Amino acid sequence: MDTVQKTDPEVARILMGERARQEATLEMIASENYASSSVLEALSSSLSNKYAEGYPGKRYYGGAEFADAIESLAITRARELFLAEHANVQPHSGASANLAAYMAVLAPGDTVLGMDLSHGGHLTHGHPSTLPAKVYRFVSYGTEPDGSIDYEKLEALALKERPKLLLAGFSSYTRSLDHGRLSAIAEKVGAVSMMDMAHIAGLVAANGLPSPVPFFDIVTATTHKTLRGPRGGMILCKREFAKAVDAAVFPGIQGGPHMNTIAAKAVAFAEASTPLFHSYAKAVLENAKVLEQELLRYEVNLIFGGTDNHMLLLDTMSSFGLSGKESQEMLEAAGISVNKNVIPDDPRSPIDPSGIRIGTPSITTRGMGREEMREIAMLMCEVLRSSGKKAIVARARKRISALCRAFPTP
Ligand SMILES: *Cc1c(COP(=O)(O)O)cnc(C)c1O
Repeated sequence: MDTVQKTDPEVARILMGERARQEATLEMIASENYASSSVLEALSSSLSNKYAEGYPGKRYYGGAEFADAIESLAITRARELFLAEHANVQPHSGASANLAAYMAVLAPGDTVLGMDLSHGGHLTHGHPSTLPAKVYRFVSYGTEPDGSIDYEKLEALALKERPKLLLAGFSSYTRSLDHGRLSAIAEKVGAVSMMDMAHIAGLVAANGLPSPVPFFDIVTATTHKTLRGPRGGMILCKREFAKAVDAAVFPGIQGGPHMNTIAAKAVAFAEASTPLFHSYAKAVLENAKVLEQELLRYEVNLIFGGTDNHMLLLDTMSSFGLSGKESQEMLEAAGISVNKNVIPDDPRSPIDPSGIRIGTPSITTRGMGREEMREIAMLMCEVLRSSGKKAIVARARKRISALCRAFPTP
């Protein structure tokens, strides 16, 4: 920061403001995390200056010796970490990884069967305002009232719709999927199977959750959520899809790869293979379970009944008489950062839905554990039941600040 401070104090002020905000806030947005200083160092390396369109050994630019070396290393590490036949580490984000995966296996107008957005699916799984939804025909499946997925119903739907692609994966579903069952349904209807493991990639890497990689033709991921690397995406696939996937990423939807980000991905893959990261993933899952138990004790209505992963979806409307937006704002005033979220078939709008989503990846990276989860659950409920009373919110804010000081960000 010293150089920016000297050359551009205006930007430096903003950067330091964000750093201070992250330090002083309890980050419970389930998709966020703190990357290590090694990851951040790789991100700010001179590889940021390098153009390297193409793939290792087949570049459209000269001077790619080190670009080739770093991308080959990232690919090897990704394949070893996830036991994948092929890896593409170039996607700039999870959304780009999904777009490229669609392009690799679909023709315009083809049908995709994916999870309903309000039941936990992601925007990139067919929201009408996205490009994929304008190019392909998305049909959605949902969850049952108890939070499970009725695979017989899903199979019947697949037989009726005959999708070219069966898409699994989620950003606000808190239960586990039956990978074997999903890939069997895809096989039965002649669809390519794809899993978007954006949220859980780190937990899968650390064997905290079962890996979808052996079961699906294509698996996409982000590298910045539980995987704790740089912002970015990746695609893993079976050998037979390798060529189509690579061509869809470049030149299909992207230009030059961000080599600095690829270097940071390589660092993150190595970090994720360590015993330390394995304990981290275990703690993320345990902390989510403690939060679940505590919130249930405070009679909070948890959508899907609870959690099998790192996140929880709270029905704040029925639990506290507060919309998701109101809950988010009240918690923010107390120093807890969360996001409003729709619940299955939400009667309210996505701008002000019925719930909030919380997650444990960031607070676990800070080293918080069981005791802290108990306190956080209590403080959250106090704030959400405070009717905005200033004294209660201020007291919670003080306790949150103390927690943040006791557990600094890396
Ligand atoms: C986060 C997420 C994405 C999008 O990732 P970006 O990097 O924000 O583009 C895609 N799919 C799922 C399931 C996600 O959770």
